[in-house]
Amino acid sequence: MDFFKPANLEELLLKMQESSENRYLLAGGTDINVQIKNGLIKNAEVIYINHLAALNGIKETETEISIGATTTYFDILHSNLIKKHLPYFQASLDFFASPILQTSATIGGNIANGSPTADVMPLLLVLDADLKLISKSNSRKIPVSDFYFGYKKHVMKPEEIIFKIVIRKNAEEGYQHFYEKVGARKTLTIAKVALAGLKKEKSGKIKEIKLAVGSLNEFARRLPKIEAYLLGKTVTEIDYNKIDELLNLEITPITDLRSDKEYRYHVCANLIRTFLNQ
Ligand SMILES: Cc1cc2nc3c(=O)[nH]c(=O)nc-3n(C[C@H](O)[C@H](O)[C@H](O)COP(=O)(O)OP(=O)(O)OC[C@H]3O[C@@H](n4cnc5c(N)ncnc54)[C@H](O)[C@@H]3O)c2cc1C
Repeated sequence: MDFFKPANLEELLLKMQESSENRYLLAGGTDINVQIKNGLIKNAEVIYINHLAALNGIKETETEISIGATTTYFDILHSNLIKKHLPYFQASLDFFASPILQTSATIGGNIANGSPTADVMPLLLVLDADLKLISKSNSRKIPVSDFYFGYKKHVMKPEEIIFKIVIRKNAEEGYQHFYEKVGARKTLTIAKVALAGLKKEKSGKIKEIKLAVGSLNEFARRLPKIEAYLLGKTVTEIDYNKIDELLNLEITPITDLRSDKEYRYHVCANLIRTFLNQ
């Protein structure tokens, strides 16, 4: 295994320009070390990034909060800036893994690793967050919804890294919110199903609604067909048979060691119903 520790961001981006078949970044290591230890990754070229100040920390502009890629969940859960502007986001992440793991696991690693179970993804999707990707020669901001296109497949070029996550300060302002992660236990558990939701009502009718699921498809996603169906409806006008029908079109749950597809489908349908009736 090759190991490289760049002195600074510039050196990291220069190194990323070299072609490599088997290169991995090591941030908190809570995914990559497990994969190396289990032999899923062999002869890796590992680049350590956790010491790079440019990739770390939570900052604000007048309208946005940005979270550096190597910011840990511990730092997110203890940030006063996030508590002030994005309290739903912060509180929802409380059930991420365990307190010990939260001190190592980074938000950039969680996204880049690409597991459909990543806790943060349904939240970033309903908050319409952006990802800033950078390379030596380019920098681009993309909506988080455009990042994946398949199981563990994303649009990052080989020379790119996740630089930061950007969320509008008012992204959750005025919304009723919902987040539920269903696993085998309450803590230190991987989600079988996760649902994040934001809604605004006016005169009893749904004026805005955002729903996103994790652990149900190859990657976390919004539920645009259900969102469109719900717009303009009062709670009593909602036909749950129609929601079930649309849910069948939007999710393709799998059966695996953790759960079967029928369980996942019914739990997701129940979570949507719970949110709409709260
Ligand atoms: C016991 C245990 C419990 C867990 N529980 C949960 C849980 O409850 N919820 C959950 O969502 N996850 C959970 N995980 C998974 C893991 O902790 C998270 O995915 C974590 O956030 C990964 O971050 P990291 O810094 O450790 O990533 P690393 O392991 O350092 O890296 C992971 C991948 O991301 C890439 N990468 C890292 N940073 C960047 C970057 N800036 N730009 C581009 N690529 C990058 C690396 O190349 C690598 O492929 C658990 C893991 C373990 C071992």
